[in-house]
Amino acid sequence: MIDEEATLAESENVDRDTGSAARSLTGQRTTEREERGSRRSGPSRRPYRQRGGGRRRRRCYFCVEKMKAIDYKDISLLRQYLNDRGLIRSRRRTSTCAKHQRMLARAIKRARHLALLPYTSEHVRLYG
Ligand SMILES: [Zn+2]
Repeated sequence: MIDEEATLAESENVDRDTGSAARSLTGQRTTEREERGSRRSGPSRRPYRQRGGGRRRRRCYFCVEKMKAIDYKDISLLRQYLNDRGLIRSRRRTSTCAKHQRMLARAIKRARHLALLPYTSEHVRLYG
């Protein structure tokens, strides 16, 4: 659920750059002004959320747990870092740090080699 919020915030940033989509987000306030013809997007369009004021970015799980090695036999842990198709979830989605993402990827690949984890999900293998 935190991941979804993170991606949502990223898409908002993209919208702010393109302009047109961001206007629909803040719609209610700006539409009447736009209909009159002033298309100026001033700095007071939307209050910028303060860093650390609201939701703070989640830290890397392995750093918090102070793990020095990731066990490739710990399938229940590794499964949390796979998506529904059996692919390794990206660092941006799981907020794992670079060091631990490398270790995690290696652990998952080892587990796959030992057939502890899937390379692909079943339905993809059947129909893909
Ligand atoms: Zn870490």
